[in-house]
Amino acid sequence: MKNLLPDLEIPKVLLNRIIERARQEYPLESCGILAGKTGRISNFYPMVNVEKSSSCYRMAPEGQLRVFLEIERKGLELSAIYHSHPHTAAFPSQRDVDQAFYPDSLILIISLMEKGALQMGAFQIAEGRIEKKTIKVVEKD
Ligand SMILES: [Zn+2]
Repeated sequence: MKNLLPDLEIPKVLLNRIIERARQEYPLESCGILAGKTGRISNFYPMVNVEKSSSCYRMAPEGQLRVFLEIERKGLELSAIYHSHPHTAAFPSQRDVDQAFYPDSLILIISLMEKGALQMGAFQIAEGRIEKKTIKVVEKD
């Protein structure tokens, strides 16, 4: 796979906000955008899942554009697109693979499938291939 992306490094505070969001939106999929530099996340932008579905998500295009512009203005990179899997494992679905429109960013999935045992995974999806990345949770941002 060309253009290998760095692993994901995420401050605990931000990860907790994402998990909280996933739980709030349950049983629907929640989604959002993560920005930072070379895989180090510094900003989390929660987004609206306009599909209102428990098996797929789609971010509102105008909200997405606004966040992309803000990321650019701040000199950050689109590090990852986040979404939750309320009922399935933390692994990309076929739809996730088919709709991986940003091969230069990772896909972060949080699974709420097992109660009390949160699973998460970060993946690079390019040309239909899935590569699992490491998620490093750091105390400070
Ligand atoms: Zn998915």
